[in-house]
Amino acid sequence: MSPECLFCRIASGEIPADVVHSDDEVIVFRDVNPQAPTHVLAIPRRHVASAHALERGDDGLLGALFGALRATADAEGLGDGYRIVTNVGAAAGQSVEHLHLHLLGGRRLTWPPG
Ligand code: AMP
Repeated sequence: MSPECLFCRIASGEIPADVVHSDDEVIVFRDVNPQAPTHVLAIPRRHVASAHALERGDDGLLGALFGALRATADAEGLGDGYRIVTNVGAAAGQSVEHLHLHLLGGRRLTWPPG
């Protein structure tokens, strides 16, 4: 845990969030500024700065993150499709330096994103 990290503090329960999934490795919670009817963030409990900091040994963690998002998509009724995206670095819009996968769904999503 990184004491200054917002998402570490959410993962520890110190800062409240609308949590939709929680297990030993991962939590999923609703984005405070949703960009779609369903907009959640999946994060590892362990502090990882971004996708760029992932290593080969993190394959189990990636499986846990995507599995938690699949379960969330099923629970939210997103059978028509949804998007998973992660921003890496300031130039890509990463505003919280703790790995998070956005899941967006419940509306038509255009491509390419801005
Ligand atoms: P990014 O810009 O890719 O780093 O995404 C960070 C996301 O975290 C943004 O979509 C924010 O709306 C969201 N966010 C920031 N603070 C909170 C919070 N306390 N609870 C839930 N979502 C948050």
